[in-house]
Amino acid sequence: MLVPGYGGGSLADLPDALLAALGVRAPDPDTATSSGAGPPLVLEPADRVCLFLVDGLGAESLKAHAETAPFLSGLAGRTLTAGFPATTVTSLCSLGTGLTPGEHGMLGLTLAVPGTGHLFNCLRWTLPDGLTMDPELWQPAPTVYQRATRAGLDAVYVGPAEFEGTGLTKAVYRGVRYVAADTVDDRVARVHESMRQGAAHVTVYYGDLDAAGHMTGWGSQEWLRQLAIVDDMAQRLVAGLPPGSALYVTADHGMVNATEKIDAESVPELTQGVALLGGEARARHVYAEPGAGQDVLEAWRETLRGKAWVVSRREAVESGWFGPRVREAWLGRIGDVVAVPYTDLAIIAPSRHRVEAMFTGYHGSMTAAEQHVPLLQART
Ligand SMILES: [Zn+2]
Repeated sequence: MLVPGYGGGSLADLPDALLAALGVRAPDPDTATSSGAGPPLVLEPADRVCLFLVDGLGAESLKAHAETAPFLSGLAGRTLTAGFPATTVTSLCSLGTGLTPGEHGMLGLTLAVPGTGHLFNCLRWTLPDGLTMDPELWQPAPTVYQRATRAGLDAVYVGPAEFEGTGLTKAVYRGVRYVAADTVDDRVARVHESMRQGAAHVTVYYGDLDAAGHMTGWGSQEWLRQLAIVDDMAQRLVAGLPPGSALYVTADHGMVNATEKIDAESVPELTQGVALLGGEARARHVYAEPGAGQDVLEAWRETLRGKAWVVSRREAVESGWFGPRVREAWLGRIGDVVAVPYTDLAIIAPSRHRVEAMFTGYHGSMTAAEQHVPLLQART
């Protein structure tokens, strides 16, 4: 089990390190994650930084296909751990706040809203029955973009037009100047333009590698085609950066290709006593009916023996999966039972998540393939 290296070696440690490279000190030592186990993450000073965030680019999959990404493979760097679960909403929030999942509360893709009996989809920002969720209530911590702006830096995010103004964007990217750009050409151009105009902190996002990995698996023809696009994009980003800039390339998580699927909605042992099935295929939050927690834990543990780590909420918290501590207010968002496959198993729920159930590639767990993401560096 690869418990994320919070406190120096995880994505949550990157935002403070990027701000420090720009001369902006970490704010409140109480909320800084550097109080964790490892040495703090230190990056060389730069006049401007560009963070190229490639959705789904695991360090292991990059290494396995280095010949398709010769530019990235030639860059200096190291690996970081994504955080738990290894999923986009959680990692984007860690990158947006510099906090561990246990501190920021974005603890998975679909989470129970305690006391309501509802599941909240943190990616699509949707609740049933037309209910809505205030992004600042769900994720109240200040963002690194707000801190950068307060320090007098222009912080820019270059990403798809469809994500501008969404609930997730408001929760994790508050305070950033969002620049919508949909093609690779346009994104590269907007990054260079922003930096020429003085932006010191620019993030640019690319999502299609992850999408290809989900649909056809990492290592597939389409995934390799996307990897080549990412490699070319990185090279073009570096080529146009003003002198004194640093480009960092990282990812929100890696991926595994599923070789087995268990339908958690049709196996009686997995439905008995379960009120809500949250999380996602490789990091399930299982919310039990009142008084059924222990029975659900035992049934899931028995059914998934040899395939998944199955623990109680308390065990997950005490084992540091979400970080050194979990805010009291977020405890109810964690399942009574947390089930995390370590084989290439996907725990699917086809009636609620039809498309996800048909995927080839998945992520969320604490295997190296999902946790290890690159942190590569190029300087101008
Ligand atoms: Zn994904």
